[in-house]
Amino acid sequence: MNTADSESLARKLLAAGYVEDSLDRADVAILNTCVVRQASEDRVYAKLHELKEWKTPERTVAVTGCIVAKEGTQLGRRFPTLDPMVVPIGEYDAFVADLDARYDYSQGEPLPPAGRTGVSHFVRVIQGCDHNCTFCIVPKVRGRERHIALTAVVAECCEAVAAGAKEVVLLGQNVDDYRDPDGEGGLATLVTAVERIPGLKRLRFMTSHPQDLEPRLLEVMAASDVICRELQLPVQSGDDGILKRMARGYQTRHYRAIVERARTLMPDIGLVTDVIVGFPGESDEAFQNTRRLIEEIEFDVVHLAMYSPRPGTFAADKMQDDVPGSEKLRRLNDLLGLQKSIAARKTARWVGRDVQVLVEGHDELGRLYGRIRQGKRAILLKASGIEPGQVVDVRVLHATAGQLTGLPAA
Ligand code: SF4
Repeated sequence: MNTADSESLARKLLAAGYVEDSLDRADVAILNTCVVRQASEDRVYAKLHELKEWKTPERTVAVTGCIVAKEGTQLGRRFPTLDPMVVPIGEYDAFVADLDARYDYSQGEPLPPAGRTGVSHFVRVIQGCDHNCTFCIVPKVRGRERHIALTAVVAECCEAVAAGAKEVVLLGQNVDDYRDPDGEGGLATLVTAVERIPGLKRLRFMTSHPQDLEPRLLEVMAASDVICRELQLPVQSGDDGILKRMARGYQTRHYRAIVERARTLMPDIGLVTDVIVGFPGESDEAFQNTRRLIEEIEFDVVHLAMYSPRPGTFAADKMQDDVPGSEKLRRLNDLLGLQKSIAARKTARWVGRDVQVLVEGHDELGRLYGRIRQGKRAILLKASGIEPGQVVDVRVLHATAGQLTGLPAA
């Protein structure tokens, strides 16, 4: 979501004639913030402290993202020397107008309007979230759901594809809850409309919610050559008692049924999940239930986090954070080790197979990389003449837990 916001703001600034530059040469530093965990919020404050050295009367610090909803004008009081411009999420036109008023570049060299579309284009289809998971600060900082009209989403995707994007990623905190405000359609209808855009090679969507995922969506995915075979489906816990305390709205039985249906329709589907360990009340038995679920389902990726209370959430305000930090760490490390071996075993199954890779760019070693339809990252060896944006057939030679390596077909 933050990447999508940054891209959206960057597009507006570039179109208005601003250019990206290194911090030491820039006039404006913009901090797009995340507060989903305490560690993210701490990083925002650390960065703002760092910017005190950089700030001069001619330079501007602007802050946007979730911390603006959480702290608002307090930021100015807390960092008076920075005097930050506080930019609410999505209110970027007003921000650009304020910057224009602050910096008069009318005597300078006019810059051509610049586009900013890479291989992948992120489109937000829902803002906010109507769920109230007891550990989560998102509904408080991003508000209730606002859904973007299907026609507007399709128009933005068409524009991105015309500008060179090959892949579109539809985003929502709970993308499965999508409802076209001008019609009846849900996410299955939306992806069906977007996948028909001529020139679009791949379509992804995230993040799904087990309570809201409609069965028809899996059928639409299975029948499509454009929609990627990957589900980002956070389970959060493998214990029904903890799921109830988290107010997730489903039981593990339901989650397992979705996975079974998805794998029946798409046996090689990539499955990504999120798990929190050490949630209030998580006994060793509850933790073992989560461990068993991870072992049984064999996810491709598990994003693991230790529970940390976020003030303002139900769990932080009304539940006791009763799992000691050392025990949370032990559980985290246990699951990290488990998942590492599962991921290595799963990626090894790709060795010797032919896959299609959408090439995204060059890695830090100068090698081309991209993703297969199931979401795994792939490195291309001996890939002369291949450009980002191409879809190439690749024979997988080698696999580690995190990525595949292969040779493009001659
Ligand atoms: S569905 Fe996701 S974004 Fe919404 S409250 Fe739950 S965890 Fe937070």
